[in-house]
Amino acid sequence: MTVVVDLKRCNGCRHMDEPQCEKLCPGDLMALNRDTGKAYIREPRDCWDCMVCVKACPMRAIETRLPYPLALYGASLKPRVKGDRIIWTLKDARGNVETFELQTRTPGR
Ligand code: SF4
Ligand code: SF4
Repeated sequence: MTVVVDLKRCNGCRHMDEPQCEKLCPGDLMALNRDTGKAYIREPRDCWDCMVCVKACPMRAIETRLPYPLALYGASLKPRVKGDRIIWTLKDARGNVETFELQTRTPGR
């Protein structure tokens, strides 16, 4: 699998000290194209889908594409962290969208 950057959404984290995807990817795979000001993945085949960049992007511009054995081309999975919850948006190859909301912390802890 790999990640895909929505170039319309990505603003290059211009109000931050550095692009969050570039800063946080443990494989040092994300980079900013200095000409376009948009992020891209340098080596898609090296991505192991940890989703750190997907969760960290303040513009929600990165999504994980599901591989063929799991879903048809175009299917994607996108998490959004909101307080103590994570909301997963699953889009299938026909464009149908489902969301799943999960609590990530036990209340009071
Ligand atoms: S974190 Fe998101 S908005 Fe920032 S550079 Fe990466 S893709 Fe673009
Ligand atoms: S999913 Fe993980 S390994 Fe892949 S580009 Fe994002 S942060 Fe790097």
